[in-house]
Amino acid sequence: MIKKHYNTVIIGAGPAGLACAITLMQNGVCDVLVAEKYKFPRNKCCAGYITQKTVKEYARFGLDTEECGYSYIEDFKLFFKHKLRQRIKNRFLLTSREINRVSLDYAFFRLAVDNGVQIEENMPVTGHFPEKNTVILGKNVSVEYDNIVFADGTFGFGSAYQKTKRRNLAMQLVFKSDIRDGIDIHFGVTKRGYCWVSSQNGVTNVGMTDEYRGSKDYKKQFKSFISDLGISQNTSSLYSAFTPIGVRKPVIGSNMYFAGDAMGACDPFTLSGVRNALISGEKAALSIARSDTRIIKRYARKLKLKFFFMRLLMKTFYVPCVRWLMFNVGCRFLGGMVTFVFNRLLNKK
Ligand SMILES: Cc1cc2nc3c(=O)[nH]c(=O)nc-3n(C[C@H](O)[C@H](O)[C@H](O)COP(=O)(O)OP(=O)(O)OC[C@H]3O[C@@H](n4cnc5c(N)ncnc54)[C@H](O)[C@@H]3O)c2cc1C
Repeated sequence: MIKKHYNTVIIGAGPAGLACAITLMQNGVCDVLVAEKYKFPRNKCCAGYITQKTVKEYARFGLDTEECGYSYIEDFKLFFKHKLRQRIKNRFLLTSREINRVSLDYAFFRLAVDNGVQIEENMPVTGHFPEKNTVILGKNVSVEYDNIVFADGTFGFGSAYQKTKRRNLAMQLVFKSDIRDGIDIHFGVTKRGYCWVSSQNGVTNVGMTDEYRGSKDYKKQFKSFISDLGISQNTSSLYSAFTPIGVRKPVIGSNMYFAGDAMGACDPFTLSGVRNALISGEKAALSIARSDTRIIKRYARKLKLKFFFMRLLMKTFYVPCVRWLMFNVGCRFLGGMVTFVFNRLLNKK
C-alpha cells in the first residue's frame, strides 16, 4: 500500500534507482518508495555489456552477475568500413546469455525487494509539485516526500528540470539466428558512433549508435547496415533510445536529486552507463542519508572531468584521417597494443 508521505521517493527502478534505494536502506533510511513505470521483468533497450569493474559494483550490493548468466564471448573483432582489422580474445566485456539487460535488471529488482525496498510497479510519475514536495503517481496517487530522486533515464519526467540538448541515439534489434558466437564492432558506418553485432547461444543483437541529428533517417541507415552484412531480418522490433551527452545537475535545491542517465552519467563515447548508474544512485543516497549534497556534487564533478577527456578522445578518434591511420596502420603493426588497450585499460572503465 502506498502511504501519504515518505522520506524519499525514487522515480525509476533501473540500476540507478535501485542502487539508491538499497543504499538508503543500508544507511538507516527505510522510509523509501520506488515508483516504476513498468512491471518487471521489463525490457530495456541496452546491449547489457559490463566490465569487471561493473561486476565488482554489483557484488558490493550483493548481486552475483555470474548467477545471472554473465560470461565472456571470446571472439571479439574490430571492423572498419566492413573490413576486419583486429581480432582479440575478449577478456573485458561480459554479457548475459540473451545479450540484453532483462535478467540482470530483474535480479537486481528481486535483491532490492529482499532488502525490504517498497517498489510500486506500473506506477509512472505523472505530476510533480516541487514547491509542495508532492509527486503524483499513476492516475491520481498523491505522495508527499522529504527528498525525491529522479532515476528515470535520459528523457524521463525529471529531464524537464535539466537543459538537455545533445544526445546519442542507440538502436538495437535482437533476434534468433545461427550466426557464430562473437562480438563484432564496426566503425566507419555512422559518423560519430559505432555498430555492433553480438551473437551467443543462437541469439544475435545488432546495434547502431550515432550522435543524434534530427534530419537523419537512422532506420534506413540501420536497414542498410544489416543488409550489407547479409542479414535479412524484419526490423519491426527495432528498438531505439537516447543516451545523454554531458553531465547534468545532480541536485536542484536541497532535496531534488538525479541519478544514472537522468544526471547524464553515461559515457558519451562508449555509451556504457550501468556502472555509473550504480555509483550515482549510491552517491545520491549517501547525500540524503548524511544530509550532505556535496557527496553527489563531488561525484558529478569527477564524471564531468572524465567525460571531458572522453569527448576529446572521441573528437580526435572521429577525425577521418586519424581513424584511417588507427585501423590501417595501428591495427596492422601494433595489434598487441590494441589488445592491451581493450583487455587491460578498458577493463578499468
Ligand atoms: C541501445 C543501448 C545500448 C546500451 N548498451 C550498454 C551496455 O552495453 N553497457 C552499459 O553499461 N550501458 C549501456 N547502455 C547505457 C545504459 O543502458 C544506461 O546508461 C543505464 O541503463 C542507465 O541506468 P538508469 O538506471 O539511469 O536508467 P534506466 O536503466 O533507463 O532505468 C530507468 C527506469 O525508470 C523507469 N521510468 C522511466 N520513466 C518513468 C516514469 N515517468 N515514472 C516511473 N518510472 C519511469 C524506466 O521504466 C526504467 O525502469 C546502452 C544504452 C542503449 C540505449
